[in-house]
Amino acid sequence: MELKLYNTLTRTKEAFRPLDPARVRMYVCGPTVYDFAHIGNARPLIVFDVLFRLLCHLYGTKHVRYVRNITDVDDKINMRALEEYPKLPLNKAIRKITIKTEAQFHKDVAALRCLRPTVEPRATMHIKEMKSLIGLLIKAKRAYVFKSHVLFKVKGLRGYGKLSHRTLSEMRKGARGEVAPKRNPMDFVLWKPSKVGEPAWPSPARIKKQGRPGWHIECSAMSWKYLGETFDIHGGGIDLVFPHHENELAQSRCAFHTPIMAQVWMHNGFLQVEGEKMSKSLGNFVTIRELLADWPGPAIRLAMLMTHYTQPINWTGQKLGEAHQELHKWSALYGARFFGSLQVHGRKNGAIDLLPPSLELVDALRDDLNTPQAIHHLRQLFQKIEQGDIWLVDQHYSDAHYLGLTDQLTSQRYALFGQAGGSVTPAVAAFAVKAVDKLRVRLINSLSNRDIIKEIKNIGLDVALDDRGYFSLSERNDCTGTILEKIRRLVEERAQARRNKDWTTADRIRDELATLGIAPKDTAEGTPTWTITR
Ligand code: AMP
Ligand code: ZN
Repeated sequence: MELKLYNTLTRTKEAFRPLDPARVRMYVCGPTVYDFAHIGNARPLIVFDVLFRLLCHLYGTKHVRYVRNITDVDDKINMRALEEYPKLPLNKAIRKITIKTEAQFHKDVAALRCLRPTVEPRATMHIKEMKSLIGLLIKAKRAYVFKSHVLFKVKGLRGYGKLSHRTLSEMRKGARGEVAPKRNPMDFVLWKPSKVGEPAWPSPARIKKQGRPGWHIECSAMSWKYLGETFDIHGGGIDLVFPHHENELAQSRCAFHTPIMAQVWMHNGFLQVEGEKMSKSLGNFVTIRELLADWPGPAIRLAMLMTHYTQPINWTGQKLGEAHQELHKWSALYGARFFGSLQVHGRKNGAIDLLPPSLELVDALRDDLNTPQAIHHLRQLFQKIEQGDIWLVDQHYSDAHYLGLTDQLTSQRYALFGQAGGSVTPAVAAFAVKAVDKLRVRLINSLSNRDIIKEIKNIGLDVALDDRGYFSLSERNDCTGTILEKIRRLVEERAQARRNKDWTTADRIRDELATLGIAPKDTAEGTPTWTITR
């Protein structure tokens, strides 16, 4: 089966034929780094990451080039810098904003299990290429200088509007947002003068005032530099079709006198939160960073991939919870394989070697990235495993791994922390989970099964895993020297101090417990109890 992709330009699902199969090239518009990425921004990141993985599988990793830019020069960045650091010189404030936002962005995408693109160019490092492009457009009489600006002349350009399927009057309305002196309201900015203190570079076309690039020219310049005059796939969210992509397309084909810029234009549908457009004023604006505080990245990824990328998504807490449950169910099995409690005949014990992805999975993705179908396949495979075909666990793991939904640490973590049971109180189990979790963060790359189990024993618990990967915690008979024993002792001493009306000692012990994240609960009589505060 061949790869088919929906092309916004032709509005049909087409067979994908790369211009050069030895160099498959994809460009996706990246973030403007002025604010933390929100859950809507996560969608193109995840969708095009799946496509990148698929292309690497079909053509070989060495033959695929994926470019996703970082826009670090933009009016929105300047505005945010002024707001947040009004006392700093503007350029310094801008650097603070862009460095902070970019660092968080990289943490977010890594947690969502997105692979690093082949190249991640920053706009400000490519001013030279933007100016060359502007030069080519002026030479081609597609651009003109007007009041220290350079503008792209839309009038008379055949094919303008073909990507967004818009009429001239619709485009005129859409172009109104841009304030700049123009000969024709349809024209758009390629270069504009900078105000004092704003980021500024020597201007092209003998304009005396220093200036900075418009947004659209950035992507044309960076895709040109890293992918060439024409390439295979250009992606982004549906909101970018007009004006951004329409204008990128116009710039590139006029500068290089080519009929196309990219062969296939792909756009992900929009995401709404709990049925409403996401916005700060509605209070439903969710950043990836906030979500990651409560949910594992793979759960967010699975929830996102449950909807086909061209469809709108209604993002709900319920959907995320369901994805989390499902991953937990799967991971219990993978964990059992990694921990060695589930043995599969003919396969290594205590490890899973990655197998090539199943044909069903690859076929689903080849059909215009049909991720709901890919997940359906994983569910069916899981059903077979539940019915007794346990040797399919390694294939299930490999397929989920291929989609970026799991890895060894993720599955161990889910297997261990998702289910706590046995003869401990929920408070103790939760405590164990938190303590081990902290350790895991510290040793993120080196935590072995033995470390996890040792840490659980340190707390004063025993852990046992069954061959389905469900584990039970039980209190160790002898818990001398463990954290649990210390907590018990302190809680008991405090209760005694209170009985003696020695409030100073009681308060001191309360403070000491607080540093362990424990709050003693005062009971009139009987055994003193405690809860966890963090
Ligand atoms: P921006 O930083 O606003 O340029 O957005 C970065 C990427 O996220 C672009 O590809 C947008 O199309 C995409 N995007 C922004 N908001 C949403 C949303 N609510 N749903 C889906 N994609 C979005
Ligand atoms: Zn772009």
